[in-house]
Amino acid sequence: MSKIRIATCSCNLVTLRCSGDPASTIPFQCLQSQLRTGSIFGVQVGFLTEQTHIDGDVITYTRIYEDGSEIIFHFCPRCGDTMLLKTEFAPDYVIVPVGLFNEQDFPIRGVSTYEEKSKGWIKFDSEIDQFVK
Ligand SMILES: [Zn+2]
Repeated sequence: MSKIRIATCSCNLVTLRCSGDPASTIPFQCLQSQLRTGSIFGVQVGFLTEQTHIDGDVITYTRIYEDGSEIIFHFCPRCGDTMLLKTEFAPDYVIVPVGLFNEQDFPIRGVSTYEEKSKGWIKFDSEIDQFVK
């Protein structure tokens, strides 16, 4: 039986259930992730769409990413938390901010991206590869 992980927004209006392990766990240091989170990077996990189920209505906003592709953000309509993202470059996946999950036992799978946008003083240990664009 697959492990179930639950992601909830701050006001508990929207819940996302994800089964099994994610395909990726990636820290994004791009400017768009900094803008979205209001912090220096965002960490997202990627699940296949069929691994996920959302309970509750969301609102969406489509943003054009730095490379010209579209990213659709799905928000809780009450508290505004970003519940998930869907992208043109990974249409079979649902990308979820890792901080929404009750469980924080995600395996490291992926690379640290957009290192060139990093604040410079951020360093990950050797368990994660780094991708320099
Ligand atoms: Zn909410």
